[in-house]
Amino acid sequence: MNMVIDGLNGIGWKKQRDTADQSCQCGSWKLHWIRHSKRDWPSTCSNADCHKKPTQGSHLRWLSGSRAQIVPLCDRCSKLTERFNLRDGVITVVKQQYECS
Ligand SMILES: [Zn+2]
Ligand SMILES: [Zn+2]
Repeated sequence: MNMVIDGLNGIGWKKQRDTADQSCQCGSWKLHWIRHSKRDWPSTCSNADCHKKPTQGSHLRWLSGSRAQIVPLCDRCSKLTERFNLRDGVITVVKQQYECS
């Protein structure tokens, strides 16, 4: 079981807010993740405590100030507001890619 500690520099990934209006030329953040990770869309959500199917690429940050990453999440986890841990081996894709702008 992974411990999730919240706080100023809490450990764990946190969903970014106010990013819904942003998009890139990939068409969706799911396609962005597939394009840049060069992997197949995973069958399970990236949240270590969740086993649902991921439906979308969500914006997450590890610490405030670190670069936003796109991570496959299910509907429920994409609405989480608390920090959570990612499954081992999850591929995160940097949101801002040179080729997308
Ligand atoms: Zn893109
Ligand atoms: Zn989930």
